[in-house]
Amino acid sequence: MNIPAALENINEQIKAACLKSRRSADEIELIAVSKTFPAEAISDAYGAGLRTFGESRAQDLRKKADILAPDINWHFIGHLQTNKIKYVAAVATLIQSIDSLHTAGALDQFCKRRGLTCDVLMQVNTSGETSKFGVKPQEAIETFLNIQENLKEIKLKGLMTIGPFTDDKKKIRSAFSVLREIRDKLRDHTSPESIAVLSMGMSHDYNIAIEEGSTMIRIGTALFGKRGS
Ligand SMILES: *Cc1c(COP(=O)(O)O)cnc(C)c1O
Repeated sequence: MNIPAALENINEQIKAACLKSRRSADEIELIAVSKTFPAEAISDAYGAGLRTFGESRAQDLRKKADILAPDINWHFIGHLQTNKIKYVAAVATLIQSIDSLHTAGALDQFCKRRGLTCDVLMQVNTSGETSKFGVKPQEAIETFLNIQENLKEIKLKGLMTIGPFTDDKKKIRSAFSVLREIRDKLRDHTSPESIAVLSMGMSHDYNIAIEEGSTMIRIGTALFGKRGS
């Protein structure tokens, strides 16, 4: 994969989607999802100007962070098992995938013991697919406010979702609009900073996500090429 060329193409598409939805491209942050790719690929992307990378396995994140440039921001985007918190909490600048009160509570406890605070997003399962993690949409507001009120070492910054695995653009769009609507409802209950981020959109659906209000897209395949399974 020619990463600089791929990045240029993605940036063009971001601009086009922003133009279509009358948004500014400055509103969209690109996270390079480097999971399963080796350090060399990340170095190439770093050379092309990227500074924020997403990993979905705790030990991989820790290992890559150890050997790569110290000015990289690492986001954790996978399901966080409580016994893996120790690999992630001190290294990740954003944990995007807080998918239950249980995980949030365990992270908060860990942070308290270590004197840390952690920036997080709450993941919502907007597609209803049972294979996906995330808080149910109908429980999202209550869970969000519960975390915010009771878990003081965790700083909520917004919401994350993974679109449904389908080619049906309507279904994808409607999942993204569910996340946006939850964010909009939260506006009455919380500060703007705690809901600033709407992380949605991957290689095959980021155009739709931007049209539906995404502020953070997570791109793997379109940047690095196909992942070996
Ligand atoms: C793998 C992954 C991505 C990137 O997916 P691509 O389709 O390769 O762009 C984004 N978000 C999450 C949570 C992922 O696990």
